[in-house]
Amino acid sequence: MPAMVKNEQLYSVAGEIPVTECMPEVWVVDPADFAGAEALIRKIQQENETTQADWICSTCQESNGGNFEICWSCQSPLAAD
Ligand SMILES: [Zn+2]
Repeated sequence: MPAMVKNEQLYSVAGEIPVTECMPEVWVVDPADFAGAEALIRKIQQENETTQADWICSTCQESNGGNFEICWSCQSPLAAD
């Protein structure tokens, strides 16, 4: 679908301006593509949430946020199963 990504280059200045101001924006050219683009973004967000699900450390049973790759409590790596 015809679309363009705006602000991608602004990642280089992230940290100097509010991060919400430099997130990439996807601009759909054809309004007819809007619903499809929205569904696609929602799908990507759901996949991100899935990969970032909390996990329980198999060593100490502590709950870790999905963005952690090692246990915050005992430093055991996330078990790859
Ligand atoms: Zn642990």
